[in-house]
Amino acid sequence: MYYHTVQKLWGNNRQEDKAVKQFQILYDNDEGLMEKLEEISRWRASHSVSTAIFRIYSEDMDLSHLGHICDILDRGMPDALYLGCTTNANIIDGALVNAKIILTCTLFEYETTRAHILQFPFSEENAAEDVAELRRFCDGNPWVHAVEMHATIMDMSMKVFCSEMSKLRKDIQVFGGGAFNPDMDDDTAAVFSKGNGFLEHGIVFLLLGGPDFHTYSTFISGWKPLKRKFRVTRADREILYELDGKPALDVYRRFLNINKNDRFFSNTLEFPLFLEHGSVDILRCPLAANEDDSLVMSSDMEEDAIVRLAYGDPETILASIREDGQKIADFQPQVIQTFSCAARRAFWGDENISNETVLFNRVAPTTGFYTHGEFLRIEGDMLNFNVTLVIVAMREGDMPEAKARVDVAKAQRDHDNDEKIPIIRRFVSFIEASTAELEEMNMKLALSSVTDGLTGLYNRGEIERQIRGTLEKWKKRGCQGNISLIMLDIDNFKKVNDGYGHKEGDHVIQTLADVLRKTTTGVHSCSIGRWGGEEFMVLLSDSSADAAAALAETIRREFASVSYETAGCQTVSIGVTQAGDEDADALYSRVDKALYMAKAAGKDQVVRLD
Ligand code: GH3
Ligand code: MG
Ligand code: MG
Repeated sequence: MYYHTVQKLWGNNRQEDKAVKQFQILYDNDEGLMEKLEEISRWRASHSVSTAIFRIYSEDMDLSHLGHICDILDRGMPDALYLGCTTNANIIDGALVNAKIILTCTLFEYETTRAHILQFPFSEENAAEDVAELRRFCDGNPWVHAVEMHATIMDMSMKVFCSEMSKLRKDIQVFGGGAFNPDMDDDTAAVFSKGNGFLEHGIVFLLLGGPDFHTYSTFISGWKPLKRKFRVTRADREILYELDGKPALDVYRRFLNINKNDRFFSNTLEFPLFLEHGSVDILRCPLAANEDDSLVMSSDMEEDAIVRLAYGDPETILASIREDGQKIADFQPQVIQTFSCAARRAFWGDENISNETVLFNRVAPTTGFYTHGEFLRIEGDMLNFNVTLVIVAMREGDMPEAKARVDVAKAQRDHDNDEKIPIIRRFVSFIEASTAELEEMNMKLALSSVTDGLTGLYNRGEIERQIRGTLEKWKKRGCQGNISLIMLDIDNFKKVNDGYGHKEGDHVIQTLADVLRKTTTGVHSCSIGRWGGEEFMVLLSDSSADAAAALAETIRREFASVSYETAGCQTVSIGVTQAGDEDADALYSRVDKALYMAKAAGKDQVVRLD
């Protein structure tokens, strides 16, 4: 019944090559563990080991069992550090492992490589204090250049924690995962470490560093964003109330036909949301829908942020891992740590989940656990991910040049043996192309509803809206500043149409529009609209009647100086006025009167009427 498996010893066995070594242990019983400790001790006797660290990951939630294992470590290898947490499941040899408790023993051979453990009670209230203490330690110990963390984070906002962590010394990498429970609905979890006991609300930091210790960390989700953007118009912590002003569930209902039911989480897991955070897109998954159609998300949301639906399909995910995984291989690590989201396990299922991590084991021994939230610091910014795979490569010593490069892509392709483009990706490209076309049409429609087709100026409706809007705002400000209006009408225009044809008439109208655009270039707060056939209105929201009259005179002169091939020279009459505390109609009728006066006085002139 009882068994224990001793995994193979990884690393380069040649004495002269110092490197990180790793022993992997599937715990089954005490005797097996003690035998393994003896084996490690024997190995240590013939090697120089500066630091020994055990990581203990446990699906077994009985802390007394774990306490017992800690006792064995305390007695069997008193100088070794250890830390660990409860997990959703464990990873050994790059694969989900069917063992409730696993231990990894990492041995550093360079005497310069150092490690230190800090553990604190952890809650939203004391997160800032914890990080302050971590910072103090890091500032006093310049050798620290990586911090691995395990924390209980259920029901916590990580906002303060992340922003405080972002203040750590810039050269410190941070990575890790949230402690979890094999039952995703159970929110108990624990962290522990040597000398610090167990905490159900705690955080443990493993600080690593030294000049010969190197880490490279990255994240991969493999989910791809769809182009359509939504804005978070209301959110509070992890509750997403509204997208684009509507209940958040609407997006799932309308676009994906996903409704509140028993399969809600497994459905949304295929289409989580990418949250735009600076230059990084972070996945957030809706876990449940509330009565009011708001969504309970897997972690904090940010009001005003842009989100996009993401789609996950196995082929696309594996392709991303192939691509990004190569960077891990190129670093030539000696051990690899993975923090993979428990939601990925739910997405793939236990039969397939290992497909996405097993390739790393061809590069170096890969261990880790399925988390409740993943953490990675990117360009100084501490980020809390969901549905993501955080991968950390570790190495002692310089990169060995001679060593053959492992082609991760090839390894994975051999594994997949299928280069076909899956149908889902064809559908996605169809949707993206249709969406792009629709967006372009919408933009044209929106534009055509405010612009005039012949001249490209605002149409009557829009210029009227702007005049009324400007007047209202101006009155609210107590009529401070000047609003002026210029109205224009081409002289004897019927004759142009009658004498040279409608087409030439259109050309003259377009020419006046061009003159208006040209003469108002650089004029502050100016809008031009086509009022009717050959009549135009210019709104100046920040000009006195003097300035408006001067501008009108320039327009008149410019227009009169144009000579048409068939129609010769044409002229325009112009009325100018300044707004008073009145409504728009009164203003129109005064500027119209000024224009009438210009016509009556012989046309081709500007009349100002205050
Ligand atoms: P006045 O100097 O008094 O303004 O004389 P007018 O001939 O310009 O008289 P009015 O303003 O009444 O004439 C406007 C004419 O403009 C009538 C109409 O046929 C013509 N018109 C209206 N819209 C268009 C158009 O889009 N293109 C062309 N070519 N002509 C138009
Ligand atoms: Mg007219
Ligand atoms: Mg006219």
